[in-house]
Amino acid sequence: MDCLWCNAPNVEESEKKDCFWIMPDGKRSIKLLQVPAINCPECGIYVSDHRNQKVDEALSIHDLSQYPDEFAYDQLLAAPVKQLFNWK
Ligand SMILES: [Zn+2]
Repeated sequence: MDCLWCNAPNVEESEKKDCFWIMPDGKRSIKLLQVPAINCPECGIYVSDHRNQKVDEALSIHDLSQYPDEFAYDQLLAAPVKQLFNWK
């Protein structure tokens, strides 16, 4: 893929980055480790908007109440999914 910022060609999501994140409800901030990040020779290492969106989505659908304030991206995806709906 091309770099999202400078359009440098052949940029890959080959790095990992630790990021601070605010939970979607705004009540808790967490440190997310090893988030897949793009490595661009010009711009450096950064997390793409697409990946950002996925993280936000994952933070809202997974139940993280049992997790500490610091955990890895893979653990986020492995967390149990919340019961969002009350089935009748
Ligand atoms: Zn770039």
